[in-house]
Amino acid sequence: MIDRLQRRRAVTSVGDGVALARTRRDFLRSAAGLTLGSTVLHAPWARAAVAASKRKVVVVTFGGGARDQETFAPEGQENIPHLMRELIPQSSFFTQVVNRGILGHYVATASLATGVYETINNFAALPPQSPTVFEYFRKDLKRPSTDAWVVAPSNGFNRIGESSHRSYGQGFGARVILPKHLLTAATAGRHEDYQHLLRDNYETPFYAPELAGSEFELQQLEMILKLSVDDFKAHAQTLSSPDELSVYIAHQLMRQVAPSLLWITMHDIDIAHAGAYSLYVEGIRRTDRLCSDLWKAIQSEPEYAGKTTMFILPDFGRDSDQDAGGNGFQHHRTGDALSRTTWMLAAGPFIREGIVVDRALDSTDLVPTLGAMFGFSPSFAQGKPVTELLQS
Ligand SMILES: [Zn+2]
Repeated sequence: MIDRLQRRRAVTSVGDGVALARTRRDFLRSAAGLTLGSTVLHAPWARAAVAASKRKVVVVTFGGGARDQETFAPEGQENIPHLMRELIPQSSFFTQVVNRGILGHYVATASLATGVYETINNFAALPPQSPTVFEYFRKDLKRPSTDAWVVAPSNGFNRIGESSHRSYGQGFGARVILPKHLLTAATAGRHEDYQHLLRDNYETPFYAPELAGSEFELQQLEMILKLSVDDFKAHAQTLSSPDELSVYIAHQLMRQVAPSLLWITMHDIDIAHAGAYSLYVEGIRRTDRLCSDLWKAIQSEPEYAGKTTMFILPDFGRDSDQDAGGNGFQHHRTGDALSRTTWMLAAGPFIREGIVVDRALDSTDLVPTLGAMFGFSPSFAQGKPVTELLQS
């Protein structure tokens, strides 16, 4: 029932989404230092030199949803200096990415990863029903299990790497690494120093599935990430947030395993559910910085530099202050245009720089776009490839 209601609202909010896209473009144009609309390409010889089989993609989901007034609007731009000044000027930026599905973080992220609006219970440890991008990638291109990884913040995401689809599923998924789970295993249940990193999600304190298999987790740390438990614990103590822990682990994965398809889900912004505006804004600022850190990591790691496309997109937005059914920034319950209309940026050697695209994309378009970039066939995905990203 909620689902049907949300879908109806999605239909009525399409017109509002167009208006949002226009204002986003205006915000970007008026921002200092941005010259948009040019068609600067990265060196064409660099594109030709990198075969599809060597290309890498890093997908970053932007943290549980943020609204324009805290990000792209003039009063919000101070919260995203890295996006505004570093990343967007060298990206193709899409101002209108509409999520027509269920606005829960696990199910929405699963929808991004399958290209289908998933209807699985957001608060259950269930695999997506449609094949994930990781399965298409690995099965079609015959890639080993080490070539597709997910780094996710909460135990609730432990099934996102592999669907229950009978043509794919078992054995074709991504390896999923849950840094908080690693930390729990590494500290053997004594968490006093790490409480700030270990909260599982911000929405339902009652749902925090405990995962078994800590021995395997510690093997992952030592054998795969080449991190001693002591080093890991010492480093974790210096980190201020779960997303920072995720980025630290992702960087370690890039160095040690260098997967071609790496998916990082950020979640700090969702602390907004607690109702503290300052923590929500702090989460946005941190996510902005961490996106820039990841971009720098891509440029500095020899396995990634010059052949990696990075995508950044939120799973969905948050409620506006206007809708009487919501409580402003705190939640994403109303299904209004602001909570459904997000954005996406793509950057890398195969992507045009300084382009802003206003036409409406669907959240489900990501997987077909990755399929066209890598050369796999996402047969069950609903979306369409984003042609603006495939023209180079
Ligand atoms: Zn949330």
